[in-house]
Amino acid sequence: MKLWEHYHTPHTFEEASDLLARYGGAARVIGGGTDLLLEIKQGHRPPVEALIDITKVKDLTHITQNGDTITIGAGVTHSQIVRCEVIAQRATCLVESCGVVGGPQVRNVGTIGGNVAHALPAADGTTSLVALDAEAEIWQNGERRWVPILEMFAGPGQSILDSTRDLLIQFRFQLAGPREASAFKRIMRPQGVALPILAAAVWVRLSEDGDTIEKSRVCIGPVAPVPTRIGVVEEVLNGSQYNDDLLEEVVRVARAELKPRTSKYRATSEYRTEMVEVLLRRALPLAVKRARTGEVVPEGIGLQ
Ligand SMILES: Cc1cc2nc3c(=O)[nH]c(=O)nc-3n(C[C@H](O)[C@H](O)[C@H](O)COP(=O)(O)OP(=O)(O)OC[C@H]3O[C@@H](n4cnc5c(N)ncnc54)[C@H](O)[C@@H]3O)c2cc1C
Repeated sequence: MKLWEHYHTPHTFEEASDLLARYGGAARVIGGGTDLLLEIKQGHRPPVEALIDITKVKDLTHITQNGDTITIGAGVTHSQIVRCEVIAQRATCLVESCGVVGGPQVRNVGTIGGNVAHALPAADGTTSLVALDAEAEIWQNGERRWVPILEMFAGPGQSILDSTRDLLIQFRFQLAGPREASAFKRIMRPQGVALPILAAAVWVRLSEDGDTIEKSRVCIGPVAPVPTRIGVVEEVLNGSQYNDDLLEEVVRVARAELKPRTSKYRATSEYRTEMVEVLLRRALPLAVKRARTGEVVPEGIGLQ
């Protein structure tokens, strides 16, 4: 049986949305196909009449900086993000997460939009977009609108989009300013080329003297059915002087409050709880150091 009948490569948003409307639910959006084609082939999703490839659509494939705001098209690949110097310097966690997705082949075709639309709480790019407080622009019911990234997720593997009818267009967020920085770390099986056992992205803004964390955003995944901010950790951090005692307190609270589930393919709950501590000890001091010094050298890219 054929997995699809027609393959379309529209070049404009209007062509892509018209095609989706014309097929009335019988077509499906495809980015790099690294998730979708396996799912259809393995019978986890039904074959479709048509695939609408968005990777040639102009509005969806650009990275655009406008002052301190950056906009990233949903069809931008992980490799494009890794090569973007302004993201590396001012949204470092995103480069560090996209830089470890799969292997080079997956990063060269897999898109940031596909990573979010697939809606897995362990997805690396998604974890960083949450810590960066991104917004997503979607096309749904004939309208374009912006939604906070956390409102994109309805359940494990389920976004608010119906990818047979709706489009994820682009993301936007504020680039780090003075005394702001981020970091991403993940735990992976040594020989693994897949989703992480656990990943963490941390964003911080420091006070002028660099001693106090004025504001933080922390995303660790997977610890819930959908990507999520770790509010209990942020509460401990916000307004506190950053020192070794604070790090110990953060670790204590995170270990006590987070209840990651056991996954038969990846790790037990107990192991993941240990890794919550390991990741916080790696990512938080790194983000703080970057915010204090303004010196940023992305770590870990392309190691897996
Ligand atoms: C070997 C391998 C290793 C991997 N390793 C990792 C990893 O380390 N970390 C990680 O996070 N992921 C990993 N993945 C998963 C996957 O590669 C990423 O999630 C990737 O970003 C998916 O993007 P894509 O463009 O290939 O999505 P696709 O497969 O094209 O699409 C995924 C889903 O999103 C929908 N969709 C895509 N784009 C849009 C859009 N613009 N609007 C609406 N719906 C859309 C599709 O219909 C489909 O349901 C791996 C996959 C493989 C095969």
